Amino acid sequence: MKSIYCSFFGHQFKVSKKVTYHVKEYKCTHCSAQMTTNGKGGLTPLTPKFKEINSVLERIHNNRMSKKQLIQERKFVVKKDEQLISFIPHFS
Ligand SMILES: [Zn+2]
Repeated sequence: MKSIYCSFFGHQFKVSKKVTYHVKEYKCTHCSAQMTTNGKGGLTPLTPKFKEINSVLERIHNNRMSKKQLIQERKFVVKKDEQLISFIPHFS
C-alpha cells in the first residue's frame, strides 16, 4: 500500500539486493514498495515474474563468478608448473 508520504513526495528507493552488476532490486524505505531494473535499464515494479527472472540472473551471474575464479586458480597452477619446468636442468 502506498503511504501518504509516498503519494506526496514519491517513493524513496534504496537498493535491497544486487542481482548482477547492472540489475538491482530496490525497496521504498517508507512503504516497502519494491522495484527492479528491467532490460532497458529503467525501473519496473518487482512482480513475482521479475523476482523469478532476477533469481535466474543471479544464479547465472554467480556461476560466471565462480568459473572466473576457477580459471584464475588454474592459471596460477600453470604458472607454478612453468616455474618448475624452468628449474629442471637440461641434459643436452
Ligand atoms: Zn513508497
